[in-house]
Amino acid sequence: MIDQPYASAYELGPIRPPSESTSLLVRVTRNCPWNTCAFCSVYKGRRFEKRSVSDIKAEIDLIARTAAALRERFSVGPEEGLDSSCALEILRSLAASTAEKHTAMWLQRGAKHVFLQDADSLVIPPRKIVEILEHLRRRFPQVSRVTSYARSRTLVARSEKQLREMKDAGLTRIHIGLESGSDRVLKMVSKGCRFDHHVEGGRRAVEVGFEVCCYVMPGLGGRALSREHVEKTAEAISKIAPGHLRLRTLWIDPGSPLRRMADDGLFEPLEEHEVVQEIRDMLLSIKSGASVNTRVVSDHDRNLLLDVEGALPGDLGELVAVCDRFLTLDPDERDGFVAGRRAGLVSGLGRYLTLDPVEKDRLVELAKELKAAGGGSLVKGMMDGLRRRSI
Ligand code: SF4
Repeated sequence: MIDQPYASAYELGPIRPPSESTSLLVRVTRNCPWNTCAFCSVYKGRRFEKRSVSDIKAEIDLIARTAAALRERFSVGPEEGLDSSCALEILRSLAASTAEKHTAMWLQRGAKHVFLQDADSLVIPPRKIVEILEHLRRRFPQVSRVTSYARSRTLVARSEKQLREMKDAGLTRIHIGLESGSDRVLKMVSKGCRFDHHVEGGRRAVEVGFEVCCYVMPGLGGRALSREHVEKTAEAISKIAPGHLRLRTLWIDPGSPLRRMADDGLFEPLEEHEVVQEIRDMLLSIKSGASVNTRVVSDHDRNLLLDVEGALPGDLGELVAVCDRFLTLDPDERDGFVAGRRAGLVSGLGRYLTLDPVEKDRLVELAKELKAAGGGSLVKGMMDGLRRRSI
């Protein structure tokens, strides 16, 4: 998580998608215009604000000047990046500004990608987005990818013509937080969108020619709505046919409204193996046409299995096999992996399976303790137990 006071000359929002780790971050708005999703605590307590286009353009100019100065200082040409030793020198310097540090990292990573922050940049008037994109292109003609989060309701509010103008001005990829296709799940977590918004907004973005990344949240239906969550999410993905399907397993943050619902017995979280079963069922339920190539990506640490990666429909068998490898473990061994992975003690299932038996037993015992603390539920035991133990 990046945190930066607003007063800085170059302003950074708190998050970006993991796939934007090489991107220059350009903050178009502050926080989230919706900000009521029960599972999300990122922007809670922070007010949504639109930034002025002149401020945003001034920051883009600042980055352009900083990039030119860094290239001159390290004697690299206008098209060249910084090597890692030069970038490290800036990052370690106590005197370097946020703009210098961020620009040094961006140059070292190729300076090809830009991400517009925060939660729903396309909510500002389309002509302003176009003005920002055109300015970016003038200052950084080498940039090949400009991306943004967009709520599906915002996409529905944009005409095809407006989206096409943004695409023509340089926006290439849109990240949509779908979370679920089930109207009941979406209502339960106050997502502010329905199945129809997701499909209409997502389809429009695909048809205009954007690369579309849809994020879905296995586990979000809890026990009561699990089946419907799987079926309707798979249906939404089948209809949108996005280029990327990104998995973001539900993780109930302390202080989030969903945590209060869970504490009050209004939401029963699934155990981790049930969530993996949901992922397996969802992948099997997606109807990909032969011409569709949706890449499934598990690129967030909240996912238990980080190797559920491949393209649909071609790699479906392999994706299901990754889930089955975990699901068919002995239940105690499975719990031991879950506890070890969530405590940050093992990186993946392959590593866990090759652990020394003594170490593995230790994790199985840890899982049993957590499960007992959670009244027979490992996931409930982990919600507090792992934090208290500071493992
Ligand atoms: S729209 Fe996104 S950023 Fe805003 S509250 Fe919902 S999940 Fe969080």
